[in-house]
Amino acid sequence: MSHGFDTMASYMPSGAPLPAPAPDGLDAAFWEGTRNHRLLVQRCKACGTFQFGPEWICHRCRSPQIGWHECSGRGKVYAFERVWHPVHSALRERVPYLIVLIELPDAGNVRMIGNLLGDPQQNVQIGDEVEVAWEDHEDVTLTQWRLVAGK
Ligand SMILES: [Zn+2]
Repeated sequence: MSHGFDTMASYMPSGAPLPAPAPDGLDAAFWEGTRNHRLLVQRCKACGTFQFGPEWICHRCRSPQIGWHECSGRGKVYAFERVWHPVHSALRERVPYLIVLIELPDAGNVRMIGNLLGDPQQNVQIGDEVEVAWEDHEDVTLTQWRLVAGK
């Protein structure tokens, strides 16, 4: 059974709390990127290490010289969970839904969390290839994921 999420304007139901940029500006570049449908993660200018989520310094060499790197938007499923018990009342009608932890091979295998779009009962395997899908809201653009066809 498909709920037809791919044709909906938004995966997140109204009333559900949305992620938002941090008030201290730490992740401002990330959110500005998603607004322009570009996937950015941090990369240390001193040692080249990728990291996500954003930090003020490199967690490997502690340099404060942190830049941003644009990723391809392709990733792999590192872990997933099919949620049957909603964590928020606004999600009550939405279950089941899929939460995925995505690894980005072209950015040092840093990981991001999102929803997997499409049929919530679809077959998902660790290592499946995914691509980013942009979910535009009035104030923020979220990163969601979908399986790459023909896996
Ligand atoms: Zn570093």
